[in-house]
Amino acid sequence: MTLKSLQSNLGLSDELLFFLEEIYKNQDGILLLGCPENSELITSFLIEAYPLIKMSRIERFIEDSKNLGLESALNNTQVIVSNDLDCTTIFLSLLEQYSNEADKLKVISKINGILILIPLKKQCGSCSKPTSIPSTSKERFPTMLASSIPSSYLFSRGCEKCGYSSYSNHTFLESFVRINNDIPKNSLLAVNPEEIFNTFRKVGCKVLFESGLDKIKLGITSIEEVIRVTPPLNSAFEKLLSGPSITESISKEKGKGTILIVEDDDDQREILRMVFNKEGYEVLVATNGSEAFNILTQNQISIIVSDIMMPVMNGLELVQKIKNDPNLSKTPVLMLTASSNPDHEVKLLEQGADDYCAKNVKKKVLITRVEKLLRKDNSINKISDFLAD
Ligand SMILES: [Zn+2]
Repeated sequence: MTLKSLQSNLGLSDELLFFLEEIYKNQDGILLLGCPENSELITSFLIEAYPLIKMSRIERFIEDSKNLGLESALNNTQVIVSNDLDCTTIFLSLLEQYSNEADKLKVISKINGILILIPLKKQCGSCSKPTSIPSTSKERFPTMLASSIPSSYLFSRGCEKCGYSSYSNHTFLESFVRINNDIPKNSLLAVNPEEIFNTFRKVGCKVLFESGLDKIKLGITSIEEVIRVTPPLNSAFEKLLSGPSITESISKEKGKGTILIVEDDDDQREILRMVFNKEGYEVLVATNGSEAFNILTQNQISIIVSDIMMPVMNGLELVQKIKNDPNLSKTPVLMLTASSNPDHEVKLLEQGADDYCAKNVKKKVLITRVEKLLRKDNSINKISDFLAD
């Protein structure tokens, strides 16, 4: 089991993976972990993740983790089962156990990071459709985040594949902060929770609701599921949410545009989503041509990467529909082909596809092709702007 395979099994975000990798590099420190009570999923996550840290500690860990009452049983993990699941509260509740500043500083210097994990149901990819987010759901989000809520999301109505539950598998909602030299240790001695909250935020700590918004935008889960699992945010912290966290502003800066992935295979779609997300694209996903077309009419999409063989509406039908729509015809489409039949590929281009790429091509090649199409698209725009002047 490697971190990468953990990531794909559980659908961990790239940001969380990076955080865990950083934590694992430093094996002597403490990771403060906050999670809901009786969560078997968290237990199994830890059992799978922790051998990566130190094999010698795993036996003891499995024994103790059965009831999650680990507390100080572990040298390197403190598990705090609490209803106040945010990094600040958990950090302060640990510090409260020590009375003098010297002891507090000693503890602070041992903490590598704080991680909150909450199990979250993943949306069924087979029956999800773009749907407007109901205002009743929006109202249950912190007001300060209202402007970040998208107008539509993928909503599953249930199908045979998911046993009409609308969900399949689990992932986590997360909030985490790395405690390293970016944070002056003295600043963490502050007793005022708001100060600590702001300090964490400055180094990129997102609250659970923000992590939930990321997952809603990626089509991983629904707004209703995020609301169901997320404990209410302390009202004093809620007021401090106005500024975006650092990571959010960074990802906006490096934003390369929005890519729409159309692929019926759940695993393939997830891989493509992660590949392009990592490259700095905002990624929307659809499981067939018809769903893709709905998304296209409601969102500004920079480029489409589409499979050919899909149920409901296949990739060729989708290309035709796009190229016949005056509002969409300029959006570049890159088709993913399974065969390497030249006749087939000529046909693709004839139908209006801008380029094609074999499905099993190296990810780097696929990324380069996408970038090339986007550049071409930009230069065409510039020329037509110039001609219009
Ligand atoms: Zn379903």
